[in-house]
Amino acid sequence: MPLQNKKENLSEWYEEVIMKSQIADYSPVKGCIVYLPYGYAIWENIKNEFKKYLEDVQEVYFPLFIPKSILEKEAEHFKGFKPEVAWVTKAGDSELEEPLAVRPTSETIIYSYVSKIIHSWRDLPLKIIQWCNVVRMETKATKPFLRAREFLWHEGHTFHKSFEEAEEEARKRILQYKDFVENFLAIPVIVGRKSEAEKFAGAHTTYTIEALMPDGKALQCGTSHNLADNFSKVFEIKFQDKDEKHKYVFQTSWGFSTRLIGAIIMVHGDDLGLIIPPKIAPIQVVIIPIYYNEDEKNVVFKKCLEMKEKLKKFRVHFDDREEYTPGYKFNDWELRGVPIRIEIGKKEVEEKIVTIFRRDLRKREIVKEEELERRIEKLIEEIHNELFNKAKSFLESKIKIAKSFEEFKKFIEEGNFVVADHCGKIECEEKIKEETKATCRVIEFNNEEPLTGRCIYCNEKAKYKAYFAKSY
Ligand SMILES: [Zn+2]
Repeated sequence: MPLQNKKENLSEWYEEVIMKSQIADYSPVKGCIVYLPYGYAIWENIKNEFKKYLEDVQEVYFPLFIPKSILEKEAEHFKGFKPEVAWVTKAGDSELEEPLAVRPTSETIIYSYVSKIIHSWRDLPLKIIQWCNVVRMETKATKPFLRAREFLWHEGHTFHKSFEEAEEEARKRILQYKDFVENFLAIPVIVGRKSEAEKFAGAHTTYTIEALMPDGKALQCGTSHNLADNFSKVFEIKFQDKDEKHKYVFQTSWGFSTRLIGAIIMVHGDDLGLIIPPKIAPIQVVIIPIYYNEDEKNVVFKKCLEMKEKLKKFRVHFDDREEYTPGYKFNDWELRGVPIRIEIGKKEVEEKIVTIFRRDLRKREIVKEEELERRIEKLIEEIHNELFNKAKSFLESKIKIAKSFEEFKKFIEEGNFVVADHCGKIECEEKIKEETKATCRVIEFNNEEPLTGRCIYCNEKAKYKAYFAKSY
């Protein structure tokens, strides 16, 4: 059964391709999915590659439950998360003395602890991270990976002597996210800061990377917050500085989640299924034997195993299932988005060659056996670049500059990433959202100078230009 047409029915295509390629499945709980081995392996690869950026950060784990009194300590933060918090109020039949929140994020539980371990300037900077799950009880329609009630993520938390140091850290992390998402997931993003209306509840400044999905909706792919001393004042996180004075620490927090898997599927897939970026693909190369009788099978299998061994530095799978035809296997692995396929039959064995098929361009090439390893290595780069450049041209084609609110509305309706001047007022942004469903996604680094100097909506003096779009 062919898939839905991606361009015409993106939403249906998206859910269908997830199920058919066995990335994930629905569960009995709304907004919570089952991560199947193939989907979970993508997350594991993302984790393992990103951990290489984190040599200066220590891994920790904090409790899933947060006592109500701790969660509500920072008022702005609590207000922001309150509508989505899941509460545990009973143990068996007996009421708990204090309700426990299932963590929507861990700032409060971590900071209530850290206040006990930071005493001196010598304890700083402190940089910790936890890889865990969080729960946010979405009330809107949920969608696997993109709008989930439970998702997997990491949250980094750092503690510094000064505002400037925290600021530098927050920017460093968002630039790492950009680097990672572009260089491993092949998804181009716009990096910058959030408007006052869109920043993280309790943050001084929020930085973000935003990608654009094929339907013209923006997807926030990672955020990093300079929390300044907003939380340390509430949680009494102080240190004695070199001048012997007691001072509040300055903090950051930052994270990305399994949403990235949704972004990979949406951005790169086509009407035949997934296209997984090669650097994080659970299977980078699949080997398919082609034979017509038992004698051929023996020779071909032997060669396949030999090639598998030769390519062991890559993630290789030899599809030795005998109950399926090569044609079936071709379709199956194309649906599941394996970037490179190797076909080995009698001809290949005799001529000491292999046939390579690349998923992204659906093109075949013949390679000599002895050149195979080097070719695969190069091909991984080529496929990555092809995917990235394709997504980048799409993003660029969707960036539209609006000079009037009429034009703004039209561009948003057509599914674009619209650049416009804004006054920076929260009320003004809310009105834009009411009228167009679009929000301010990002004020780009080093590119915020207003175009005309007047707010696109209220015509007051513009503070900056920003990217607006509907979003997931
Ligand atoms: Zn305005």
